[in-house]
Amino acid sequence: MRSDKMAGEAAPASELYAVTLDQRYRSLFEESRDAVYITARDGRFLDVNRSFLEMFGFRRDELLRRNARDLYVDVADRHRFQREIERFGSVRDYEVRLRGRDGSVLHALLSAAAFRGTDGEVLWYQGIIHDFSARKEAEDALARSEHFARTIVSSVGEGVIVYDREFRYQVWNRFMEELTGLRAEQVVGRATLESFPHLREYGIDTLLQRALAGEHVQSEDTPYRVPETGRDGWVTAYYSPHRAPNGEIIGVVAIIHDVTQRKRAEDQLLHNAFHDSLTGLPNRALFLDRLERLIKHVHRHPEYTFAVLFLDLDRFKVVNDSLGHGVGDDLLIAIGHRLEACLREGDSVARLGGDEFAILLDDVKDVNEATRVADRIECELTAPFFLRGHEVFTSTSIGIALSSLSYSKPGDLLRDADTAMYRAKSGGRGRYEVFDRAMHLEAVEQLKIETDLRRAAERNELLLHYQPIISLDSGQLVGFESLVRWQHPRHGLLQPADFIPLAEETGMIVPVGWWVLREACTQMKKWLTAYPQHGNLTVSVNLSSRQFTQPDLVEQIDLILQETGCPASALKLEITESVIMHDAPQAASMLHALKARGIGLCIDDFGTGYSSLSYLNSFPIDTLKIDRSFVARVDEDGSSIELIETIVALSRILGMSAVAEGVETPEQLELVRRLGSQYAQGFYFAVPLDIAAAETMLRTGPIW
Ligand code: C2E
Ligand code: CA
Ligand code: CA
Repeated sequence: MRSDKMAGEAAPASELYAVTLDQRYRSLFEESRDAVYITARDGRFLDVNRSFLEMFGFRRDELLRRNARDLYVDVADRHRFQREIERFGSVRDYEVRLRGRDGSVLHALLSAAAFRGTDGEVLWYQGIIHDFSARKEAEDALARSEHFARTIVSSVGEGVIVYDREFRYQVWNRFMEELTGLRAEQVVGRATLESFPHLREYGIDTLLQRALAGEHVQSEDTPYRVPETGRDGWVTAYYSPHRAPNGEIIGVVAIIHDVTQRKRAEDQLLHNAFHDSLTGLPNRALFLDRLERLIKHVHRHPEYTFAVLFLDLDRFKVVNDSLGHGVGDDLLIAIGHRLEACLREGDSVARLGGDEFAILLDDVKDVNEATRVADRIECELTAPFFLRGHEVFTSTSIGIALSSLSYSKPGDLLRDADTAMYRAKSGGRGRYEVFDRAMHLEAVEQLKIETDLRRAAERNELLLHYQPIISLDSGQLVGFESLVRWQHPRHGLLQPADFIPLAEETGMIVPVGWWVLREACTQMKKWLTAYPQHGNLTVSVNLSSRQFTQPDLVEQIDLILQETGCPASALKLEITESVIMHDAPQAASMLHALKARGIGLCIDDFGTGYSSLSYLNSFPIDTLKIDRSFVARVDEDGSSIELIETIVALSRILGMSAVAEGVETPEQLELVRRLGSQYAQGFYFAVPLDIAAAETMLRTGPIW
């Protein structure tokens, strides 16, 4: 309209200016990178610039047929815009979403004004649209990535902590909340070491300092405990510098791994490696470790002394074999408890294996202090244990070794305590011995004996002694018990106690046992031939448990009887209770097979094991040999008299005979006779005799 007017008239300066101005605006209008438009009041497009067409993708003629409201993505935007512009006459930077021809959405800032006529009526609208989709996208991307980061931080299965430069908590993610039970609000703003002072011990302050200086550092496994919530566990942390976009370090970021489970598993493994699974006591490895530390301590403080007690239960095998492993296990556990109860603070007890325990007595003044503890232990362990319906008695042999500067290896100290224990055991059970040098030399000898024993049989170094067994009715000799001896080339005549336990441990007892049986049968055959007046004479041969469980036992015995010509009726076998109770059904069939051949069967050391009476009845046993420890104690201990009486009565009921072993004095003889034992054996009558002495007795008859 205006331009028509301008074109038709000569223009004054101001008009010219206005025209130029109008043209200038026109070019601004055309060249603007923003979209510029003019619409009628009802929204029809009156004019748009090129940018508009490009921005929305319309051709000019297409667009001029359209209405501005069609371009709004959200019609509410359009209404709001309309309201505002009507009220205020213009709007600036009104953020809207508009739709292009192809449906694509533009994020735009819309600024527009209403042009009114003189009557105040709106004539047209004129506006500029700035497309900021690109910026919007960048902003969105930023917001998204922030959100993404926040989501990760809060949902990641690791702890995330951000510290400021003063090591105050700034971020404490959900994982940390769950781990510690502390909510972010409780933590953020607090200083690390104020909240968890113990972390200083683990050098957390130095690690944080290093991260703040730009390093990436890792903590060790670190325990934590939250006093407020009682939570505890283990973590490892990775600290890195926290940098602002300009590279400046503004704090520290820490990633926290919860390693509690791994740590507990490791601790468990460690515990298992150093503890006995049955009793829960420290094991040999841990014990040696403690010894090693104490030995070092002695070298720094020579006035400090400690003692090692080596304990070995005296009859554990008997319990285990006759009452079963369950009771055996219970006994070991119960003994562990009793031992712990005997200790002072600072002492410790370990199970070395099997029925062996060791005790470490910390800081003892002298050997008497150690022997007092040993006394107390002996005493504690004599009280019976009640296990699975059984009353179980036990005793222990104890070896004591005192620390000294001469020890540098823990194994040596333990070995010496062990040696002393052996001494205690062979001196009679339930005792203790203190280690000395002489014992060490003996122990070294013991080692050589083991190798020697392997050759003893071949070299004819073994021999048998024969101890007479006497009928208490007639006073006559009824038989001999064969007892093995070893004529050792260097040590002289060795008694069974010096080598039988060793032979049993190494399995050598089996060949030795067969040698004994063959030798005893050969001798018996000779005597029966030479002294026909002793036609009922028998020889008793001890069978060890190892031998008794040989599968070819019966065949071997048949063979030996056949080869030596010794009648089966002249042979008696002595077996201990535990051997037959160990596998009673198996033992029963073995015993019946032997019995069927006419071989006599005795239970040796009767009363020291745990015979089940019901089984005893089912075994074809001829004789119970009353253990010599009962006979030895009759003078002082009334209960052993009762025991002997009971055994004798039992043998009568079961149709067996009884032999009292270890009769040494006339009083003991009188007593066992009065108690009804038919037979006796012991130093009172004769010690075990060599062949010549035995033959003298066979010729001249007994001299008592
Ligand atoms: P055991 O079968 O109980 O043998 C009796 C032991 O008591 C013998 O000891 C004997 O010398 C000893 N003794 C006999 N009368 C008295 C006495 O009045 N007072 C005392 N204090 N002791 C007496 P020894 O010969 O030292 O044998 C010890 C153990 O060695 C035997 O005990 C037996 O278990 C075992 N043994 C001996 N020879 C053999 C063998 O050939 N084979 C097997 N497997 N074991 C044997
Ligand atoms: Ca015997
Ligand atoms: Ca015996």
